[in-house]
Order: sequence, then C-alpha cells, then structure tokens
Amino acid sequence: MNESIFDDLKSRNVTLVAVSKLRSVDQIFSLYQRGQRIFGENKVQELISKVPLLPDDIYWHLIGHLQKNKVRYIAPFISMIHSVDSYTLLEVIQKEAAKSNRIIDVLLQFYIASEESKFGLDEYEAIDLLEKVKLYPMPNVRICGVMGMASFTDDSQLVRREFKHLKDIFQKLKSNYFIHNEEFKEISMGMSGDYQIAIEEGSTMVRIGTKLFEQ
Ligand SMILES: *Cc1c(COP(=O)(O)O)cnc(C)c1O
Repeated sequence: MNESIFDDLKSRNVTLVAVSKLRSVDQIFSLYQRGQRIFGENKVQELISKVPLLPDDIYWHLIGHLQKNKVRYIAPFISMIHSVDSYTLLEVIQKEAAKSNRIIDVLLQFYIASEESKFGLDEYEAIDLLEKVKLYPMPNVRICGVMGMASFTDDSQLVRREFKHLKDIFQKLKSNYFIHNEEFKEISMGMSGDYQIAIEEGSTMVRIGTKLFEQ
C-alpha cells in the first residue's frame, strides 16, 4: 500500500475511499489491516461477492452507475451511494432502505466532464430532483453532497475547471436546499490521476484505486 497517499490525505482531512474494484479479497484485507475502513466498488455483482468474505465493520460505498433493479441487493448494508443520477433511482433507494429499516447516505452525481458517455445530472435536473424531494420527503435517504468525475486528460487546467464547476454546483445547492442541513457536506471528486487538483479545489472525499493498490 502506498503510505504517502494515506498519510497525506489524513493530514488534509480528506476522506479516502479505497477503490477496490478488480482487487482481490486479500489485497483489500491487507489495506484493512493497515486501518482503512472505507472501500468503494463500481459494480453491484462484484461488491456483493466480496462483502461476505471481508470484515463487517467495513463501510462499503457504491461509486459506479447503479441500475434500479439492483438496489435491493445492496440496500441492506451499503454505507453510501455516490451515483444517484435520477429521481426515480432515489425513489427506489428510499423504498429499499425503508424495507431494510435503514437510512442510506447518497450523493448526487453530476456530469462535469467534457467527454461523452459519463453518467450524471446537470444543474437543472438536480434542481428538478430536489424540488420533488421537497414535496415528497424521503425519510430513509440522506442526501450528503455531490460527486463528479473530471475528463480523463493530461490537460490539468481543464480538470481544474471541471472540479471548480462541481464545487460551484455544491455551493448553489447548499445555499438553496441545504442551508441548515449539516449532512449536506461532501464533495466526492478526485481519482488516482487528479486527486491533488481535486483537493486544491475543495474535495472532501477522494476515490483512489490504482495509486493505492499499485506502488
Ligand atoms: C475506478 C474508479 C475510481 C478510481 O480510479 P483510479 O484511477 O484507479 O484511482 C474512482 N471513481 C470511480 C467512479 C471509478 O469507477
């Protein structure tokens, strides 16, 4: 495991989600033994195959696109879902969380990259979603912030602009919908290639795989 990243993030008060997709249970467990407790997976199938093989005080985060018909498999244990990109998905999470008698933390995923093919809301869709939530509150869902992925590029100025954009969206939503809500506080941005820039732009949660597991 890459100690420097680990210590660096601790000192900067940024939450590390160790992205363990494609990593073996042994690899995950060795990071666990070094104290890491938050792990992120991007596929439901892979996630639910690993969970029973690892300690049950791990906080599992779902960071990849989530299909509505898969929510029920993770609702009993998932700690946070980073990838809410529609009101209907949120409704399903509410329903399944209620069935499990749990409250599930979620982030709204935004489309901030200038590439095609990334999932996520735009600002208008998010406002639409939050207006509906205002009308029909969801007691088993806690909206904790926003998530986004920057373009996969060497152009660090572009990446920085995209992260700034996500921070702007966060602040607008915070002041319009969550002004007295302490729970809306997370900005999940930054991966192996761009987490330094993300932290400079206000990330509170980085999702790092490659750099953590490969020295
Ligand atoms: C894989 C993945 C990451 C981590 O990517 P690395 O480049 O390996 O750090 C972060 N976020 C999401 C949504 C991912 O799918």
